Amino acid sequence: MNTRELLTQLSRIENGLEQFSFEELSASEASNLKKTFLSFKNGLESKVFGERNAETLIALEDKQPKKPESLTESSLIANVSHEIRTPLNGIVGFIDLLKETQLSKEQQELVNALGLASNNLMSIINELLEFSKLSAGKESFAFIEFNLKNLLNELSYLAQTLIVDKNINFNLNIDKNIPEIIIGDPSKLSQILLNLLGNAVKFVEKGEINFNISLKSIKKNDIRLGFEISDTGIGIAQDKLGKIFDSYQQAEIDTHIKYGGSGLGLSIVKEIIEQLEGEITVSSTLGQGTTFKLEIPYQKTTQKVKRSKKINISQPNDSKPLADMTVLVFEDNLLNQKLITSRLQNWGCKTIVTDNGLYGLKILKDHKIDVVLMDLRMPSMNGFEITKRIRNSSNKSIKDITIIALSADFNASDKEQFNALGMNDFILKPFKPDNLLDKIVNSKNRKMTERETKTETMELISKNNLTEELNLELVLEDCMGQVELLDELLQLFKKNILEFVGKTKVHLLNDDFEGVAFTAHKIKSGLRMFKLNSLIEICDQMSLICKSDRDIKHLNFLYEEFLKEYEVIEPKIELEIQRIRTK
Ligand code: ADP
Repeated sequence: MNTRELLTQLSRIENGLEQFSFEELSASEASNLKKTFLSFKNGLESKVFGERNAETLIALEDKQPKKPESLTESSLIANVSHEIRTPLNGIVGFIDLLKETQLSKEQQELVNALGLASNNLMSIINELLEFSKLSAGKESFAFIEFNLKNLLNELSYLAQTLIVDKNINFNLNIDKNIPEIIIGDPSKLSQILLNLLGNAVKFVEKGEINFNISLKSIKKNDIRLGFEISDTGIGIAQDKLGKIFDSYQQAEIDTHIKYGGSGLGLSIVKEIIEQLEGEITVSSTLGQGTTFKLEIPYQKTTQKVKRSKKINISQPNDSKPLADMTVLVFEDNLLNQKLITSRLQNWGCKTIVTDNGLYGLKILKDHKIDVVLMDLRMPSMNGFEITKRIRNSSNKSIKDITIIALSADFNASDKEQFNALGMNDFILKPFKPDNLLDKIVNSKNRKMTERETKTETMELISKNNLTEELNLELVLEDCMGQVELLDELLQLFKKNILEFVGKTKVHLLNDDFEGVAFTAHKIKSGLRMFKLNSLIEICDQMSLICKSDRDIKHLNFLYEEFLKEYEVIEPKIELEIQRIRTK
């Protein structure tokens, strides 16, 4: 494909746009969309074709499909891909805007077709970029210790989540002699295997996918691993087998129509494997199935193998703080999908991503999901609609699931819906990884039946976080300007906090609600003195719960929040007092 497929995609979009302007729809979005598209198209054409026109190129391409070979060519593609992603993002954004306007049924279909074409284009461009990076040798490979067994299990799990409405048995078989921890590039290995497993799932309707990993050789610290992915799918004709590793090659003319894809996946896979000094081969029988075999060299670690142990999420320095959790992510933007997935996987949790409301709801039924990350604005069913369906579910564990909203903006009406639907938390995009991690870890301690109170608490907490400015000058005024007195008060205050932290922990462990209410009450006067409103709010909530429903999980959550807040506040107090002392 390359140029040809790009052009096909472009003319699909163009056709859609033309039809648009012939309808009486004269919304400014439509004209903006068209303008953006045209400048994008012109820019792209002149970049790719130089002075020559598109028709001549199509004719040339017809005679001889090209693949990017030279460094200049691939860096050109890299530049072009970067440049066209930005306007393309704009186009996708405008299409979303159009979707939100009043459209006739026919117009809706056109907009959907536009959306589909631009999303296809986006994924082709992303793959192009990936390919060109590889060809230009820009890709650097990691050489780190990683847990192979965990990685293979995660990949198999992911592959199985891709099997929807198909009757496929997935079998994973790992040679027992393979060391658990090896040295190499885990993310490249994931990329290779996911591509192959993804293809297997795509091209198999029923039967089996077998994923076998064996130890091919071992010499001192050098090991060579064999990976075999075989399926009982549609297979590939013998005369096509030789070509499937070439860029933009698909086995049959109608493969793209039936299965989508760009024909780039396998060429990227081969390129990576070769750069890793490994090899890949394929054998296949049409109508019976396909087997991909690969061998990749790795190194054994010289350190003692650490058995993977269950990690307690309350330890802040865990490298896998979300191990044992499964997160379902509703997100339509591919880049965001990639970003979120790779972060979640780094934290050790299983991740399922979808942009489709109905599919996501099915996943919720079939899998044990701990947390849902919900993009609010998605093309077909938006985040609020999906949340509504979740909260109306007759299945209690689905209905009560923690939902964290993801959004680039959060306006008043969003907030209203957020509260009305009982979403548990929200995070603004772009977000810091630590922030997301905190929110997911917190969600573990939450009890869902307390959604509303908690939402309020969290809103208050985050509001205070934003607005609270520590002002010790006011306290100094209370101390009649005596810095020594302020110092003394501060030491006492810190002691009180330590007492609160220790005693409350013991009370919580013993389910002693009177005790918790008492410590929360006692600490409040100190907090008031220093006007630490967010901490006061948390203590108020704790007292309230001790008097009302005595929900221990909610109390634990608030206690953790208190600790986190205080961790941020204490250094600020220190800085303030030093400033005052040296004044
Ligand atoms: P894509 O899947 O995006 O089309 P790939 O480079 O991954 O591109 O694959 C190239 C072609 O090889 C596919 O279009 C398909 O025709 C064929 N192919 C790959 N894997 C399989 C498989 N497991 N079974 C049958 N055909 C396959």
